[in-house]
Amino acid sequence: MTPDEFRRHGRQAIDWIADYLERIEQFPVLSQVKPGEIRAKLPPKPPVEGEPFEAILRDLDDIVLPGITHWQSPNFFAFFPANNSGPSILGDLVCAGLGVQGMLWATSPACTEVETHVLDWMADLLGLPAQFKSDATGGGVIQDTASSATLCAIVAARERATSGRSNQSGVRSPLVAYASTQAHSSVEKGVRVAGLGSENLRFIDVDDRYAMRPDRLADAIAQDRAAGRIPAIVCATVGTTSSTAIDPVPEIGRICREQGIWLHVDAALAGTAAICPEFRHLHAGLELADSYCVNPHKWMFTNFDCDCFYVADRAPLIRALSVLPEYLRNRASESGAVIDYRDWHVPLGRRFRALKLWFVIRWFGVAGLQQKIRQHVAWAQEFAGWVAADPRFELAASVPLNLVCFRLREGDEANQRLLDRLNGSGQVYLSHTRLDGKFTLRFCVGQTNTTRGHVVRAWEQIRAG
Ligand SMILES: *Cc1c(COP(=O)(O)O)cnc(C)c1O
Repeated sequence: MTPDEFRRHGRQAIDWIADYLERIEQFPVLSQVKPGEIRAKLPPKPPVEGEPFEAILRDLDDIVLPGITHWQSPNFFAFFPANNSGPSILGDLVCAGLGVQGMLWATSPACTEVETHVLDWMADLLGLPAQFKSDATGGGVIQDTASSATLCAIVAARERATSGRSNQSGVRSPLVAYASTQAHSSVEKGVRVAGLGSENLRFIDVDDRYAMRPDRLADAIAQDRAAGRIPAIVCATVGTTSSTAIDPVPEIGRICREQGIWLHVDAALAGTAAICPEFRHLHAGLELADSYCVNPHKWMFTNFDCDCFYVADRAPLIRALSVLPEYLRNRASESGAVIDYRDWHVPLGRRFRALKLWFVIRWFGVAGLQQKIRQHVAWAQEFAGWVAADPRFELAASVPLNLVCFRLREGDEANQRLLDRLNGSGQVYLSHTRLDGKFTLRFCVGQTNTTRGHVVRAWEQIRAG
């Protein structure tokens, strides 16, 4: 493709995306295809000769779109959002255009330095403690996902708990990890991948707000110590996936400090709210944390994938993950004056993901980000009010932010039927969880283009029938 062809087809592709976003509400939010339906439309063999770009674009409409669940639809209220925005899409496009692989500072200094700078901006935006910034002992790095961030936290904690011998084999006491029963599945996955073993993960009981009970955590730690095991890491959650429950980080942090245990705080969705001063309290106790993560790819208008991972002390993370073969040696790294992010995560290679975050923050401005977040929270609160006022429904958990967990009082079957009717209609998409053993609907307001009108119409459809 010549630069001129690229210009022409690039405009077509941008137009295609703009047209898609303009007509997105015409599609059923949840894709209605059957398994195998999309593959059946694809030719069995790849083309021998190249095809015109127009033919490729046409198949987006004919083949791909029917198999899309429209995460960018303003009627998407399922799971947590994976929202995006124009500046983010364009930032990612520029990233592809530059095609940089930023494993080392030297392989594109801007890739590293823009990332460091934008992550320091983020630390200020979110009110993170000073030690998480790059001019202190710690710093931030963009990871693909919160799952990877949690894995890196576990690996760094393992390094610290074994006094730097985590990468050597040999018999040693088992290391133990702790998280609440409501923690994300990525904690268990991280514990398995890091080799701690699922049997060394303790699921700590929660209170009636689904938040971790610090007294139960302290008991579990004491039991493990008595048995000769080494408590290594506690993963606290600010905004659990089921119900946005907030673990009491200040109390958990005090226990971790006393016991010398790594504290990781997973704020994948909820952390974004701390951009607004009135939600900063979500980050109470973070000065006691060793690591923290938030996903701009959930609620900060930045397309997947983009997780911001912070450590208060970068040394154990880098010790755990740095391997230096001859072919990566270079003067800049040896000078010690630069950051090589390859040592801050599992992969070697990395793309210029900071661009999209930089574009987003500059396009919206802090005030623009705050306005969107405040609206989402306000509309979710309004929706919760409607649920509470309807005698057929009940709220299943408190609503600290933008997620409403609710259900019909009639029981599991009625709620499953309601969810099937809503999602089958194509008009809205909600997901579910189980709270207190009961089938519960989740309604999360967080898509970039959702308006109050969309929330009102969704409630009308939920109520009807
Ligand atoms: C969504 C979520 C995750 C996982 O996010 P990925 O970035 O997809 O790995 C982890 N923790 C919490 C609390 C979440 O809500």
